[in-house]
Amino acid sequence: MFVDSHCHLNYAGLVEEQPAVLARAREAGVSAMLNISTRSSEWDDVIATAEREDDVMASVGVHPHEADLHPDVETETLVARAAHPKVIGIGESGLDYYYDRSDRDRQRQSFRAHIAAARETGLPLIVHTRDAEDDTYAILADEMGKGAYPALIHCFTASRDFAAKVLDLGLTISISGIVTFKKAEDLQATAKDLPADRLLIETDSPFLAPVPHRGRPCEPAYVADTARFLANLRGESVEHLAETTTNNFYRLFTKARR
Ligand SMILES: [Zn+2]
Ligand SMILES: [Zn+2]
Repeated sequence: MFVDSHCHLNYAGLVEEQPAVLARAREAGVSAMLNISTRSSEWDDVIATAEREDDVMASVGVHPHEADLHPDVETETLVARAAHPKVIGIGESGLDYYYDRSDRDRQRQSFRAHIAAARETGLPLIVHTRDAEDDTYAILADEMGKGAYPALIHCFTASRDFAAKVLDLGLTISISGIVTFKKAEDLQATAKDLPADRLLIETDSPFLAPVPHRGRPCEPAYVADTARFLANLRGESVEHLAETTTNNFYRLFTKARR
């Protein structure tokens, strides 16, 4: 049984047919899904889905793209919303210097506010980082120095060096369908060597459908395809990879109930 540690069930492309999407995920052996928030206006819907569905859990947070539009989202707001029994993580938050949709100072400030919420609640921070390795690592390390907090890098596409550094900080790394792409040779080489006890799998659906579903909207059922590819890459059985990544998920997300 697989856990999809990062999906957006309330995004266009999935929300219109959520019951069918969930049914196909269950059919494919997905036993739990973490439905991720990206802006405060969707928190109610993301949490409502988790309330309705036993195998869906929720996060609260503001994506770096949205940082400019959420000057009011502070640590205490996140902590208050995280008190809900089905909210098991903080995020996604982080830095995106590829799209630069929000001011970089504002992204950094929002990132630190989310880290503080993760530290205060003990709920893992779901980190998004793109073209921002140096600043992401600097902030993660600086904040770790102020007090430990649990965290993972979602949809990992960064360098092997960055992987080594965040693993040293105690973070976990989540691999998406990008690993199945033909051009993803560097990522494949890094993913092959990641420590088995720090590895998660995700879809980031409705984005990034893995091979052989390219060109279609992604959905949680496809985490099984990423798992098969990754297991093959690492020279292990898919059952073994499913078991270790599922155990890793519940060990990191301590508030999640099996
Ligand atoms: Zn992301
Ligand atoms: Zn996402």
